[in-house]
Amino acid sequence: METIKHRIDTRLIHAGEPKTRIHGAVNLPIFQSSTFEYTGQSSYDDLKYIRMNNTPNHVVLHGKLAALENAEAALVTSSGMAAISTTLMALFSPGDHILVQNCLYGGTQDFITSDLAPLGFEFDFIDAADPKDWDAKRKSNTRGLYVETITNPLLQVGDLKGLAEFAAAHGLIAMIDNTFATPVNFRPPEWGYDISLHSCTKYLNGHSDIVAGAVIGKADLLDKINHKLVHLGGSLDPHACFLLHRGMKTLAVRMRHQNCSALAIAEFLADHAAVERVNYPGLADHPGHDRARQLLEGFGGMISFELKGGLSATERFMQRATIPIVAPSLGGVETLVTRPAVTSHAGMSPAQRQEAGIGDALIRLSVGLEDTNDLTEDLDNALMG
Ligand code: PLP
Repeated sequence: METIKHRIDTRLIHAGEPKTRIHGAVNLPIFQSSTFEYTGQSSYDDLKYIRMNNTPNHVVLHGKLAALENAEAALVTSSGMAAISTTLMALFSPGDHILVQNCLYGGTQDFITSDLAPLGFEFDFIDAADPKDWDAKRKSNTRGLYVETITNPLLQVGDLKGLAEFAAAHGLIAMIDNTFATPVNFRPPEWGYDISLHSCTKYLNGHSDIVAGAVIGKADLLDKINHKLVHLGGSLDPHACFLLHRGMKTLAVRMRHQNCSALAIAEFLADHAAVERVNYPGLADHPGHDRARQLLEGFGGMISFELKGGLSATERFMQRATIPIVAPSLGGVETLVTRPAVTSHAGMSPAQRQEAGIGDALIRLSVGLEDTNDLTEDLDNALMG
């Protein structure tokens, strides 16, 4: 089936699927075979082997992920961090300089500052909403730019259009972590990004039962990343491919519910007497709201907020809430609540967190698929404590 002309809901289900159904199977079976018969391949990368990311389970996901963002190519990886670390190590060399958004997922920030910098990779943090800052930080050896569509955990939305244009004007590889937005709410290649990265552990899979990642983008860059991935060994197991494939088919339905539910919950929190501040790009007073409206097809399912009573109020609230499960991670069917300072951003030093604006009492909520009224009633009870 030619799926390129179809809308995203149809592409999620039909894009990339085998042209001929295997033994008529409506769902792609799991090819749990580490190796496949040699058929005369002349290149190492073409040998059929799970680590080469080329079993039927990988190939179908690659086609589907590329189709979702209207990109040339895609690659699944064993985790979001495998996608991010492999991409940076494949596309840049020691001595190269990268402009990096000043508030990112803690693992990414820690990888860049603690792992890449000692190897001789150079970077500078930038304010993604301030073009003057990008210009001031750009150097003769600047080769790339790295941002998040909606940042973790402060939910900032930078000047994503301007950043891609800036990268193109200066010959930089533009990379964006699109995990929080998902291809339903934002498709980076359509805005000029060369590489879009995902933790598929989150919304793409959607069921909190696997860890996986994806790189989506230009075919020549994907070839380099695949080559590095084969060496670093971050390939996804076929069984996890199968679960990701199954989860992805409902992405659009889930995201639309989560977009609506999170907006309603963010509005409820913003009006609540016990709440000091709410970060959600769908709220009119969010600093990136106008950009979010222009760029995104939905504001996503993530909210972060602070309570008036500081850390003790936060801890009381998290103990009293009964529907949200206190756990790191996000993007599943169940609502999760966490304190980024002790989970997703615990790898950053207290000074780095403070500089980035991630307070110890900040609460991050991943809104699931429960009934919105049940969630607001439960949050209300927890806030009254
Ligand atoms: N990117 C973002 C925005 C994340 O929130 C995370 C994990 O929380 C990652 C990347 C890393 O993904 P993974 O845990 O699948 O390696």
